[in-house]
Amino acid sequence: MSTKNVKAFGTESKDAALKQMSIERREVMPKDIEIEILYCGVCHSDLHTARNDWGGTIYPAVPGHEIVGKITRVGSEVTKLKVGDIGAVGCLVDSCRECDSCKHDLEQYCLNGFTGTYNGKEKYLGNQTFGGYSEKIVVDEHFVLKVPANLNLPAVAPLLCAGITTWSPLRHWKVGKESKVAVVGLGGLGHMAIKLAKGLGAHVTLFSRTPGKIKDGLDLGADQVVISTDAAQMKSVQGKFDVIIDTVPYVHDVNPYVATLTISGTLVLVGYLGNLDPMLNSVPMILGRKSVAGSVIGGIAETQELLNFCGEHNIVSDIEIIKIQDINEAYERMLKSDVRYRFVIDMASLKK
Ligand code: NAP
Ligand code: ZN
Repeated sequence: MSTKNVKAFGTESKDAALKQMSIERREVMPKDIEIEILYCGVCHSDLHTARNDWGGTIYPAVPGHEIVGKITRVGSEVTKLKVGDIGAVGCLVDSCRECDSCKHDLEQYCLNGFTGTYNGKEKYLGNQTFGGYSEKIVVDEHFVLKVPANLNLPAVAPLLCAGITTWSPLRHWKVGKESKVAVVGLGGLGHMAIKLAKGLGAHVTLFSRTPGKIKDGLDLGADQVVISTDAAQMKSVQGKFDVIIDTVPYVHDVNPYVATLTISGTLVLVGYLGNLDPMLNSVPMILGRKSVAGSVIGGIAETQELLNFCGEHNIVSDIEIIKIQDINEAYERMLKSDVRYRFVIDMASLKK
């Protein structure tokens, strides 16, 4: 298959800084859309992948799965979008499309494994997929989303991961006007979870370790902020929440949050991957019919539903625009929770 080289920013090893490199993109096939990437959000998963936190990173690695851009070419069979339109790509660029999950619009749970936008297996070229820290991307039209025209484009980018990752559990656990929702951690995912749960009409509480984020939490729409390191504050919300979205990226004690679930409430882990430490105590779960669950991103139809909802409710991410050359510093700031609340790369900087 013919390919073309495009400029990208990526890393050669887990200890190396990200730098400019050249990668191959496949030529547009009949159902493919080529997008000139205008903006790409910076997710904590990009950092986990670049630094091989989860194991399994194939180098060179080019992160980025919050992509918006202008369509520059379409294959002969594409009907969804046309040249000149704005298109968006999130964390998935393919899946088997035949299994039970795929047939039910749950491509993120594809039984044969979805193709991640980066560090996945490029079906046609056989090498790893490369993400959005690049000039262009070529994606099957099924995995390209439409963007509501009324939204500020760079601030739309984070909806493609931070947005859908929090939207999907809010929808699955049927959050609405009667719901009491809590969000753990005010970062990229956390700030979207607040806005979206609020948009669905829920009463929203933020759990944060960081007193300096109280005002921001309230400004973003939270009805209250609980400092999770303050025992008295934690006690004051015992038994209160129907759904908790826990976005913390590293191992942490989940038990104090389980205590704040109502009877039959569910805590959904979306951040940390791995064994819990300290272990989960089953006693409050059994005595209160409580659940601890997990959730990964969202399907394509659900992502379009989210984008449409954001268009109708004027919801976008709070962003700080950076140049691609500042990505290594941005990662360090993300590690210090010093992001308000998502970095978005202006990809024009890669052209320089
Ligand atoms: P982020 O912007 O860095 O935000 C994480 C927030 O968690 C921080 O702002 C901080 O909030 C809190 N936090 C950080 N370290 C902590 C610690 N050691 N203990 C307690 N709280 C801590 O990250 P993000 O981009 O939102 O991503 C969050 C996690 O979700 C990452 O692990 C990412 O890989 C994962 N993720 C999962 C999915 C999925 O499909 N499930 C999709 C995307 C991302 P406070 O200062 O308010 O405490
Ligand atoms: Zn992400």
